[in-house]
Amino acid sequence: MVLLGPPGSGKGTQAERLAAKLSVPAISTGEMLRAAVAQGSALGARVEGVMASGQLVSDELMAEVVQDRLAKDDCKGGFLLDGYPRTAAQTQTLDDILDDLGERLDHVIYLSVPEEELVRRALLRQRDDDTEEVIQERLRVYRNETEPLVAHYEQAGLLRRVDGDRSMDEVTAAMLEAIR
Ligand code: AMP
Repeated sequence: MVLLGPPGSGKGTQAERLAAKLSVPAISTGEMLRAAVAQGSALGARVEGVMASGQLVSDELMAEVVQDRLAKDDCKGGFLLDGYPRTAAQTQTLDDILDDLGERLDHVIYLSVPEEELVRRALLRQRDDDTEEVIQERLRVYRNETEPLVAHYEQAGLLRRVDGDRSMDEVTAAMLEAIR
């Protein structure tokens, strides 16, 4: 299953909650990359600057990261992806990876939240090195690169829209309902 939504939509929090309810791993590519940076690994060194600017890490590098992660044993009973795919090329890569594993996507949930609420939340949870410029850049990249995936998955008949502008519990309940 894939969770789509703009930065500040509560995707990360909801991914954790839903994954716990469904007993599958929540796989956040953003968390994986931040962990790599914190560890000072070779991967971390390659992505640190790109991440700090609010831009996207290259599709090729992300393909390696996701392929390795989805091949792990804990993904055998299903998984919830948070933050991947984010570009048209990544949707294709994900389909290829899933094909190789003999799996397919069951659901894509789109968490929708009004723009002004996104900016408000982004400023609240601002990380140390986030300037308002970087926050705006993330939203811009989201709109250009990731938002088109909503239509893509809608056409594929996989998309469920959930109103993310509610309490955390209400959103979790609505997501569970959407995939029932
Ligand atoms: P996130 O926590 O999901 O907002 O991710 C933080 C940052 O990690 C993003 O701003 C990107 O620089 C990078 N990142 C995470 N996931 C991806 C992805 N699927 N494709 C490219 N870059 C990513």
